[in-house]
Amino acid sequence: MRIKILGGAVVGWSGSHHELIPDGVVVLEGNAIDYVGSDRALPADKTIDAAGKLVCPGFINLHVHSQLNIGDYLITDVTKKDYLSANYFVFGAPVKEKMTPPPPPSVAVGRKYALMSALKNGATTVLDPGSGPGDFEGYVETVGQIGGRVFFSPAYRSHDIFTDSEGHHYYEARPDQGRKGLQQAVDFIRKFHGAHQGRLQGILNPAQAETCEPSLLKESAAAAEELGVGLHIHAGGNLREFLQILYHHRKPVVEYLAESGVLGPKTVLGHMVYVAGHSRVDYPFGDELKVIATTGASVGHCPHKYAKMALAMESFDSYVERGINVGLGTDTYPLDIISEMRYASLISRLVDRKYHGARPAAVFNAATIWGAEALGRKDLGRLARGAKADIVIVDLRTLRYGPVRDPVTALVEYGSGADVETVIVDGEIVIERGHSTRVDEAELLAQGEATAKRAWDNWATRDWAGRSAEEITPPAFPIHKQ
Ligand SMILES: [Zn+2]
Repeated sequence: MRIKILGGAVVGWSGSHHELIPDGVVVLEGNAIDYVGSDRALPADKTIDAAGKLVCPGFINLHVHSQLNIGDYLITDVTKKDYLSANYFVFGAPVKEKMTPPPPPSVAVGRKYALMSALKNGATTVLDPGSGPGDFEGYVETVGQIGGRVFFSPAYRSHDIFTDSEGHHYYEARPDQGRKGLQQAVDFIRKFHGAHQGRLQGILNPAQAETCEPSLLKESAAAAEELGVGLHIHAGGNLREFLQILYHHRKPVVEYLAESGVLGPKTVLGHMVYVAGHSRVDYPFGDELKVIATTGASVGHCPHKYAKMALAMESFDSYVERGINVGLGTDTYPLDIISEMRYASLISRLVDRKYHGARPAAVFNAATIWGAEALGRKDLGRLARGAKADIVIVDLRTLRYGPVRDPVTALVEYGSGADVETVIVDGEIVIERGHSTRVDEAELLAQGEATAKRAWDNWATRDWAGRSAEEITPPAFPIHKQ
């Protein structure tokens, strides 16, 4: 099947950079791009009219936990004074004795909901660094059903984090030091890497830098090498982690990871906000950014989530200038990679106090080609002959925008995932007129709402002090009593 996209402003690929082709044409043949240019006369089986719209390469979201925002809602826990911005210590560290795994149907709904949400927002490729326990065959089925590209395998760690009945956090070694988890991930990748015509790709996910002992990291690096896949690890994500590694191993996190053998061109470091020299870390020694750049590891930057926690990378521009490959991820809801470009740009400017910093081109690159680079894929994130037919068409002609002069600048400055009209992945239209061609969205929304409500309503049963969700994160306004 040949599909022709006609008449939009096309973000084409020159061979070395994106370029804008006004009134452009893109032709897809099967699952690949066959033509990008201005020839309107080329034959096709189906034509999509994109006049007045922006035709972009599919965006790459490097941080989508395929789950609902149950815990994220509680991230601004007003009662917590000792979490040091370690969000997973707020809601993610259960009381060991009260711990019950979420029921498999709830996990399944969360996965489907998140993968659908990321796709609708324009991310044709996501990196999922963890998605709840169990039923990974079901996960693979969901990826098949939703229609996007996903890099995933089950996350694992050598140490769990718990909260005791008085609210103290602690780490506890797993009896197997995480080896069963690693084996499960390796088995998953052996079995499912390349499933759904290559839309599902394996990537190893040792969970967080400080919950993985050096020997587990070394074995992870060796396993990734043997499997020929990449590796994602949450690192530099919070002060608690930084201090834990500093006190336990007497070095900052990047040094720890480098010595554990996990830094290389196929490694994605999720967050990497807390590095030596950051204004919130009293540790001015060494040059961690240089180590990241030298090893060729990438950073998956999630500016919105960190702004919510009153934190910023220092800075997006500085990392890029130091030669680090930086991609973007959302981490928290909304899984809106288009708004995330704006957050990346604005927060970098604020940190550097440079209004001319973090230009639209840089954050657009981060959400496309640099994200693709992080995943080792030259055939994603660009509209070029031979690249995968992953395309996003955005409607810029709405009164919500100002009149548009440069469409890419407009997208970064005003746009959101809600403006995404058409999404094509692997040559198939998976979102048409803003809606899934494969999934009943109303049904999925209702399932997601019911699942989240159940979890929030029962929060007291798992909280260390038996508190309700409202006590932890009160509603914006008090609720009117009849
Ligand atoms: Zn994460």
